[in-house]
Amino acid sequence: MSEKLKPCPFCGSEAFLINEGKFWAADCENIDCIIRRTRYYITEQEAVEAWNRRVGE
Ligand SMILES: [Zn+2]
Repeated sequence: MSEKLKPCPFCGSEAFLINEGKFWAADCENIDCIIRRTRYYITEQEAVEAWNRRVGE
């Protein structure tokens, strides 16, 4: 079971995944959000975990 994306920790909007070729990132749906995309990761799971780790920072 893969981990789900949590809401954006900075604005509370939903997050979504970006698949750019063979790389994955997570981004915030709110285009005005101060901090949006994570960096790119090799796996979808890494991108999800990187996003979720930002919660509460
Ligand atoms: Zn946001």
